Amino acid sequence: MADGQAPGEFDLIRLLRERQVVHPAVRLGIGDDAAILSPAAGRELLIAADMLMEGTHFTFPPLTPREAGRKALAVNLSDLAAMAAEPLAAFVTVALPRGRSANFALELHEGVLDAARPFGMSLAGGDTNAWDGPLVISVTVCGQSTAAGPVCRSGALPGDRILVTGALGGSLAGHHASFTPRVREALQLHQAAPMHAMIDISDGLAADLHHILDESQVAAVLEAARIPLSPEAQRQATAEKPALVRALSDGEDFELLLTAAPDDAARLLALDLPGCPLTDIGSIHAGSGCQLRQPDGSLTALERSGWQHQL
Ligand code: ADP
Ligand code: MG
Repeated sequence: MADGQAPGEFDLIRLLRERQVVHPAVRLGIGDDAAILSPAAGRELLIAADMLMEGTHFTFPPLTPREAGRKALAVNLSDLAAMAAEPLAAFVTVALPRGRSANFALELHEGVLDAARPFGMSLAGGDTNAWDGPLVISVTVCGQSTAAGPVCRSGALPGDRILVTGALGGSLAGHHASFTPRVREALQLHQAAPMHAMIDISDGLAADLHHILDESQVAAVLEAARIPLSPEAQRQATAEKPALVRALSDGEDFELLLTAAPDDAARLLALDLPGCPLTDIGSIHAGSGCQLRQPDGSLTALERSGWQHQL
C-alpha cells in the first residue's frame, strides 16, 4: 500500500521484520506481498479478526499505546483459545493518527509483540497507514486445530456440565488491558478430555452462555452460589448492582466458558491449571432459555443482559 503511508513506515516494518519470532508453520512472514502458512498435516486452519477503534473501544489515557497493541492481539487470541486452536500468526492493520509522537506506532507494535511472544507465534504481516482520524487497529489471527479438532459453540448436549475458567466481573477496572488469553489452558483442557462447546466471555457470562445455548439449541441452569466472583466485582458491588450481577453482565472477562459430559467435566476439574481456577457452575438441559438457581432452590429466568426475572 503506497497512499497515506505513515512517516517512518518502512523503518517500522524493517524493525518488525528483524524482531519477528517465526513459528515453524509460517514459511514466509513480513517482507513479501503475502505471507505463506503451512499448517501441520491433517490440521485445520482457524482465522479470526477483531478491530479496536480509539474513542469507541478505548481512549488514551487511561490506555497506553503499548496496552492498546497488546489488547488488540490478546482479544483475537482469546477467540482462538475459545476454539482450542494453537496460534500461528497475526496480521496487524493500523490507521495511525497523524501528529502523534514518533514512537506511537512503535509502542503500539511493541504491545502486539508482548502479546505474541508467550505463544511463539509470528507477526507475519499487516498494513500501515496514516490519516487524520483516531487510531484504528485491526488484527487477524491464524491458528491451527489440535489433533482433537476445534471446539465450536454448537456442540453442547443435555446432561453436560458448564465450566468456567478464572473469576468474573469488574474487568474494566484493569483486567481488560492486561489479561493473558487462555490459550494454554484451552489446549491443556482439550488434551485432557473432550469438550462439547466453548466460547470466550467477551460480552458477559449471561450473554455468552446464551450464544452457546442458541447455537446448540439447548437450555441451561446456572447455580448462582457457584459463579466465581472476581475481587474487583466484589469491591465494586453496590445494592443496585451486586457482585453476582457484575459477574453475569460485565463484559471483557476473556475467560473460557465450556460444556462437557459429566465424567469428562470431572476429569477437567481434576486438572492443575497454573493460576487458572476451573469451576462447575451449572448444567445443560433439553429446551431453550437459561435459569439461575438461587441458594434457596428458587429459579429465576436469566436474560442475555445478565438481568434476572422472577418466574
Ligand atoms: P504491499 O504494498 O505489497 O501491500 P507493504 O509495503 O504494505 O506491502 O508491506 C510490506 C510488508 O510489511 C508486507 O509483508 C506486510 O505484510 C508487512 N507489514 C506492513 N505493515 C505491517 C504492520 N503494521 N505489521 C506487520 N506487518 C506489516
Ligand atoms: Mg504488494
